[in-house]
Amino acid sequence: MPPADPAPPGSTLGILGGGQLGRMLAMAAAELGIRTRIFAPPGDNPATDIAASAMIAEWNDEQALAEFADKVDAVTYEFENVPLETALFLAARKPLAPGANALAIAQDRVLEKSMARDLGLELAPFVEVGTIADLEAGIESIQLPAILKTRRLGYDGKGQVLIEKPTDAAAAWEAIGLIPAVLEERVAFEHEISALVARSADGAETVFDITMNHHENGILRHSRVPAGIDPILNQRAIDNAKRIARHLDYVGVLAVEMFVVGTDPTGLLLNEIAPRVHNSGHWTTDGCAFSQFDLHVRACLGWPLPPDPLRHSDVQMTNLLGDDAEAWRGFAKEPNVSLHLYGKASARPGRKMGHVNRVTPRAEPRR
Ligand code: AMP
Repeated sequence: MPPADPAPPGSTLGILGGGQLGRMLAMAAAELGIRTRIFAPPGDNPATDIAASAMIAEWNDEQALAEFADKVDAVTYEFENVPLETALFLAARKPLAPGANALAIAQDRVLEKSMARDLGLELAPFVEVGTIADLEAGIESIQLPAILKTRRLGYDGKGQVLIEKPTDAAAAWEAIGLIPAVLEERVAFEHEISALVARSADGAETVFDITMNHHENGILRHSRVPAGIDPILNQRAIDNAKRIARHLDYVGVLAVEMFVVGTDPTGLLLNEIAPRVHNSGHWTTDGCAFSQFDLHVRACLGWPLPPDPLRHSDVQMTNLLGDDAEAWRGFAKEPNVSLHLYGKASARPGRKMGHVNRVTPRAEPRR
């Protein structure tokens, strides 16, 4: 929960994680006169270039966490693999948003899928896998090809193996490290979309326009708004995100990734949720009066949310992965490109180094 009274300008928001999302949250906080303090393990933490201060320590360093908690007014996270114990330790000392419950569910694919199913959302068929025997049985019940995904700690397609035929089972189980997993049918989707909703503690909701996403090798490559999907599916995608946010009594920005497989009501399948600002919402910085980062900071501090993010532009966002960012001079020359670079020290292949937003005035009038 955020603070009972709005934390005023001059307050400090603690951010767990020091990556690009933390960096962009810190920038949005600064616009509101809010100081930020990062907590992150040692490593390349580009958010610390922006934040007023940082505590660099391991997630289980309770002394460092207690000191961090003392110096902040509220806490959020930029990354859902923050250990749950760390979140609970901090939540006992300072207002934490989104809550530890949202974090726990997003960290565990089985909890996440069970919640979605209980809420009436459609999902690709899946089974829990704890042993090779479960996997073999799962392959009997789920149509191949299927994807074996680690139950916890997956992101950007990591911890996932494709199973095309029953004899792939042993190698796939080995490849994901013999750890709890889910086996999920590979969906022949037409599109991938995401819904982003910001929710405040009093239940006010601000919905961003549905985003059309294109992934390559499990990593987001492009996002586009407007998504241009069927209006009924569009509304259903928004309703799904709101339903999850309300169920979790959620505070902050929630991202819900979905597959579009057809136009009938069962044609929208939940992929996963992210209890944080999300890469598929990076277009909002240049496409709206209120960005996802701005609204997340406001919600976490107990500030009011605007009823509408006021999208004024159409945007195509492209992630700059690995060496792509070396072409920054070219992007800087393009007249409609807003260039965002994360200040990371080294460009490994596939690493998110920045993004560009190609911005044009909104074609379709606001309703
Ligand atoms: P995830 O980390 O689970 O979001 O997976 C990363 C990407 O892999 C997704 O955005 C999809 O492009 C692809 N993917 C994941 N699960 C499935 C699935 N069940 N069927 C088809 N593609 C999938």
